Order: sequence, then structure tokens, then C-alpha cells
Amino acid sequence: QEGGTGNGVADKIPASDLPQPVKVQQVRHTKIFINNEWHTSISGRTFPTLNPATGDTICQVQEGDKEDVDEAVAAARAAMQHGSAWRRMGPSRRGRLLHRLADLVERDRLLLATLESLDTGKPFLQAFFIDLEGSIETLRYYAGWADKIHGRTVPVDKTFMSITKHEPVGVCGAIIPWNFPLLMLMWKIAPALSCGNTVVVKPAEQTPLTALHIGSLIKEAEFPPGVVNIVPGFGSTAGAAIAIHGGIDKVAFTGSTEVGQLIKEAAAKSNLKRVTLELGGKNPCIVFDDCDLQLAVEEIQKGAFYNQGQCCTAASRVFVQESIYEEFVRLSVEKAKKIVIGDPLDPRTTHGPQIDQRQFDKIMDLIESGKKEGAKLEYGGGAVGEKGLFIQPTIFSEVKDSMRIAKEEIFGPVLSLFSFKSQQEAVERANDSRYGLVSAVFTTSMDRALSVSGAMETGTVWINCYNALHVQTPFGGYKMSGNGRELGEYALAEYSEVKTVTFKMNPTM
Ligand code: NAD
Repeated sequence: QEGGTGNGVADKIPASDLPQPVKVQQVRHTKIFINNEWHTSISGRTFPTLNPATGDTICQVQEGDKEDVDEAVAAARAAMQHGSAWRRMGPSRRGRLLHRLADLVERDRLLLATLESLDTGKPFLQAFFIDLEGSIETLRYYAGWADKIHGRTVPVDKTFMSITKHEPVGVCGAIIPWNFPLLMLMWKIAPALSCGNTVVVKPAEQTPLTALHIGSLIKEAEFPPGVVNIVPGFGSTAGAAIAIHGGIDKVAFTGSTEVGQLIKEAAAKSNLKRVTLELGGKNPCIVFDDCDLQLAVEEIQKGAFYNQGQCCTAASRVFVQESIYEEFVRLSVEKAKKIVIGDPLDPRTTHGPQIDQRQFDKIMDLIESGKKEGAKLEYGGGAVGEKGLFIQPTIFSEVKDSMRIAKEEIFGPVLSLFSFKSQQEAVERANDSRYGLVSAVFTTSMDRALSVSGAMETGTVWINCYNALHVQTPFGGYKMSGNGRELGEYALAEYSEVKTVTFKMNPTM
């Protein structure tokens, strides 16, 4: 029996069995979390976090700044010192703590999904089935790694013997975006903790609530004080303080390319801390005329409109082979008409509001530019309702590579369709971007899939699928989409230092 939600994440579940959001009368955790304790901000300031579906203030949150970051770093450094409870803890126990945190996230799954939906505007069922599922999987995956991280014995010349040891980097800063607040937090803290680091987290100012709830679970799981510290606040103050801090050994950032550049600059000027960056994308899809057309339309639409287009992986440049172009446009419009815009807490909703007024205005400006520059508006293009920041899923055809909508990251529900003749042309145009995060290829030819995936200048290539992210596989960008990799075994290297220990052997032995 169909659940009838049509949002793809819960279609197989009967409507009566669907999870329901909880009633949030009052948000419990709104303070700064340092040393497993809750603090008010040193400045005494707070900031409101808004519900983008209504514009109402959900609650006030303590506004951390440089001085609060200093305290959080001091706590994280103390927790990292030799002889501390965390440093003495065996790796299997670290793994068990991560599993315990996963258990608590599972216990509070409905509440966390509700908070995430309220704070971001994403449909509740998507938060429940995608963000929460992914967060729990990430914790469990890295819980499993904790006692499997090891170096090697290295054969060396003459009378020496060398071993390598993988040690934690130290105090890791994590600067989190607003589009997947909980999931991006887990992508950072789970490998960091698995490797034995301590962390200072700054959630995005738009969406601090789920991270703060995780603070309470960190304490309940009995992580030692100072291992995880969470400082809500703004980017140019608390975020910049993390990037420049001499007591932080590594910073992991997800967000805009522009801020990524600022972070790398601050890291270089301060203590050359390690930096991993997961930045924007202008992700190309190539749809060949031998593909399964229904599948391509479906997957690409998911890619373009999922989370209201607010994904670094959003499918935003879709090159469709000439002979199937018209049909692809027609089917895309037909499918877009089925998207249900509405209250994110309503299980029928598949499309919520944009995150804030700034993003809303930026997206509307880019839609206007598309119209002015001569792209053909096939569907959508307008705002919806009197209240909240809703934008219709929007489809443009006849898009030219030189147009703004073809070049700039929109981070909104806008799908641009281009037509192409030859494989070589499609690959060249797809790669003609400063970004290189993900791409997708739709074809039934194995040879074509292999050769095109080899030619794409992106960190991930999806063949006949989209947004197929897995905790076991690395994720990250080529070019200006970022540095380093998150997820999979590869992420462990980003959170480890490698130490070589060389022994002089007794030659008589
Ligand atoms: P942003 O890059 O400004 O914010 C992301 C995070 O960085 C937030 O926690 C923010 O407080 C922090 N930050 C901002 N300025 C900082 C600074 N100077 N130093 C340290 N930290 C800082 O993103 P935004 O302004 O909220 O959105 C703008 C654009 O960024 C979007 O339109 C989109 O293109 C892109 N974006 C990308 C992602 C992604 O997943 N790659 C996520 C969010 C936004």
C-alpha cells in the first residue's frame, strides 16, 4: 500500500504508520555547550532563530563570539592533554561511546527531525528518513572504525626498524552550514571523535537547534567534559574566531566557496592549521539518448529540487541529447507539477520554504536574470503564498552556457536544461566550470558510462542515479568545490596525524 506522500522517502509506508512530528512547546537547549555544561554568552547577547515557513521566531539562542570560542578551545585542549580521561580511553571504548550517542539520537529521532524541520523548513519526513537516518549511520560507521585505525610496520634499509602510528590531530573546529545542519555535524564529529580528537563546533546561525540538542546527548552518553563543545553564533564573529585560532589544529568547513577561501587564508595566517573544505557546486548531468528516460527525469528532478535545491550537490546544469530534448522537457514539467508545496510538518509536503530572506532574494534575482537573458521559463518561477519563503520548483529550457543561471550557484529550486549533439561537446561543456563537486551520467551503454565518468572533473560521478551518497564512500570536490574528503575510510586521514617511530636495531642480533 502506498503512503501517498509522493516525496520519495516514505512512499512504501502506509499513511497511518508514518512517523509524526512531536509538539515542541519550548526548545530545551539554547545555550553554549562547553565542558558538558550550558553557558550564557560572555557578551550577554542572544539571537533569534526563525521558522522559515512562517517567519516566526522559534526561540532566542545565546550568541557566542570570540571570547566564548576561546573558552571552548581551552576546554577542548584540556580534554586533549596527555593523561586526560579522553587520551587514556581505549579505542574500543571510544567506539562504544559513539554507539551510545547513536542510540540516543535514535531514541530522540522524532524530536530531532521535528527541530530540524522547524529550523530549516525542510519537510519533516525528509528530515526523519534522510537526515536522521544518515546521522545515525554516520555515527555507527565511525564507531566501528575507532579500534581499527592503525599504522604499519615499514621495511627500511640497514639496521633500523620503523613503524607508523596514526594519532589524533588535536582540537578540530567544525563550521556547519544550514542546509543539513545535523547531518553535516555528524560528518565532521563522528570521524573526528573516532580518531580521538576533541572538537569545537559552530552551527550555522540560521539553524542551531539540533546541534544544541546533540550537546545534551553528548553529556548523557558520558563523553568526558571538553571533548565536544558547541558555540552557536555568527560566521564573521564566532566562525572567524575558529578559523584564526592558534589553539585549533584543524578546521572542517562546509558552506560557500567565498567563505572557504577566507577560512583557508585565516588558517594560513595563524598556525597553518589543516583545512578541509566542502564548498559549492554547479553540478552537470549528461543525459544520452540511449538512457532510460523516465529514470533520468526522476533522478535529475530529485537532484534539482531536493531540500528546495539547497544542496551543494544540486543538479543544476542538465545537458540532454538533442533527439530526446523536447521529450525530456515535457516529462520534467509534468513531474514538477506533482510536487506538493506546503507546511513542512505536514507529511504530504514535499517542498518547503527557502532558508532565509537573503537566499530567497538571491534565487528570485537569478530567476529574473534567466528570463531577461532569454531562457525559456517552462514551469514555476514565482513565489508562493503570503507568508514564509516558498519558491515554486522552476524549470528553464533553452539555457545558454553564458547565462548567469548556467554559471552561478543558485542554491534554490531551479533546473536548467541545455541541449547537446555529441559526447565530446557535452563533456567539454559540463567541465567548463570553476566547480567540480558531483556529476551524473544517464546512459545504458557501459562503455559510454566508463569513458564519460573518467572524463568528468568532479569528486563524484553518479551513473543512472543521483544523490546516491553513502557513508562508506568518500565525498568531496575537485577544483573550487573544496579540498579533502569526508566520509568513508578517507575521512580518517583528514583527522589523523601520522607519526613515524624508528628504532635502531642491535646489529649483533
Ligand atoms: P556561508 O558559507 O556564509 O555559511 C556557512 C557557515 O560558515 C555558517 O556556519 C556561517 O556562520 C559560517 N561563516 C560565514 N562566514 C564566515 C567566516 N568569515 N568565517 C568563518 N565562518 C563563517 O553560507 P551562507 O551565506 O549561509 O550561504 C551562501 C551560499 O553558500 C549559498 O547560497 C550557497 O551557495 C553556499 N552554501 C553552500 C553549502 C554547501 O553545502 N556547500 C551550504 C550552505 C551554503
